[in-house]
Amino acid sequence: MVCSTKRPGHCDRSRLRHAAEWIVAASEFELIRRFFADATPNRADVVLGIGDDCALLQPAPEQTIAVSIDTLVAGRHFLPDVDPAALGHKALAVNLSDLAAMGATPAWLTLAITLPAADLDWLAAFMRGFAALAEQHRVQLVGGDTTGGPLSVTIQAHGLLPVGRGLRRSGASPGDRLFVSGTLGDAALALRHRRAGLEAGDLQARLDRPTPRVALGLLLRDIASAAIDVSDGLHADLGHLCAASGVAARVVLAQLPLSAAVREACKADNWQLPLAGGDDYELLFSVAPERIADLKKACQAINEPIREIGELRRGAGITLIYPDGSEGRETPQGYDHFKS
Ligand code: ADP
Ligand code: MG
Repeated sequence: MVCSTKRPGHCDRSRLRHAAEWIVAASEFELIRRFFADATPNRADVVLGIGDDCALLQPAPEQTIAVSIDTLVAGRHFLPDVDPAALGHKALAVNLSDLAAMGATPAWLTLAITLPAADLDWLAAFMRGFAALAEQHRVQLVGGDTTGGPLSVTIQAHGLLPVGRGLRRSGASPGDRLFVSGTLGDAALALRHRRAGLEAGDLQARLDRPTPRVALGLLLRDIASAAIDVSDGLHADLGHLCAASGVAARVVLAQLPLSAAVREACKADNWQLPLAGGDDYELLFSVAPERIADLKKACQAINEPIREIGELRRGAGITLIYPDGSEGRETPQGYDHFKS
């Protein structure tokens, strides 16, 4: 439904500023047919996709389903004037990142979208970004909901795992080594630049179009002891992994994988960007020492750069090792981000 109820007259037309335009431009079914029904690849395990009261999905008997959902709200998770194609990509990427952190293969999606106006060009661009990433990972949009109101996008992603498998936060042991993919702090630095009215250059893509590390997640399922995706900053997300596993962590700051721009910024702000910047969507994971050779070989084979950044020990909490050898246990101040 375009409005949140099927009863005529009940729709909140003050919120749907251009509701009349919307209805003229396209009926509800026309909208769904035009933007959602054929937006993504068809999968053999979808018995019934968009168009009925429910989708019907048929995983193979030996598969477990991994489910995750994330909402992005205008003004909180993204700037209201965001490029809609970038938003379509990012809204899906953050969900695929959760599946990656579990070691799941992405399969199906549902999309609940709330729009302040019936801007068909905006919706077309949004779906272009969404569909390109969906195609890349062979995931099918199988249902959703379309309503009028303040701009927000909610995506539920379903992934598949062999029965009983899945990379949890709770599997790490003292002695395991800590690794992270990609580079940290780029998205937060891009946001900092934009808010200061500066061009973010290459960093902008790291904020707008994060890369979900799906192939890495699949490979880690057989190698890592625990994993989490870094969405709220390394320090906070490592804290979750440590708490779930009942271990302490030591992080060597000089080992953090940083772009040249973030490395430069770290000199002035005491490592805030990589530790607390957020929006990285890299994978943070632990590996037993005897599996590190396998890890490196497997990552090289799929050309996925990873970096060892520290280790886990008995106890609780996170110790930061500074480049001068000093140690600290402080929690970095959350960078002034939409989430804060
Ligand atoms: P219902 O009234 O039964 O809830 P709707 O009229 O809301 O169904 O939607 C009709 C069909 O279109 C359903 O299959 C629904 O899942 C799908 N749909 C609606 N909005 C979206 C969307 N944003 N993305 C994908 N599918 C959608
Ligand atoms: Mg129905």
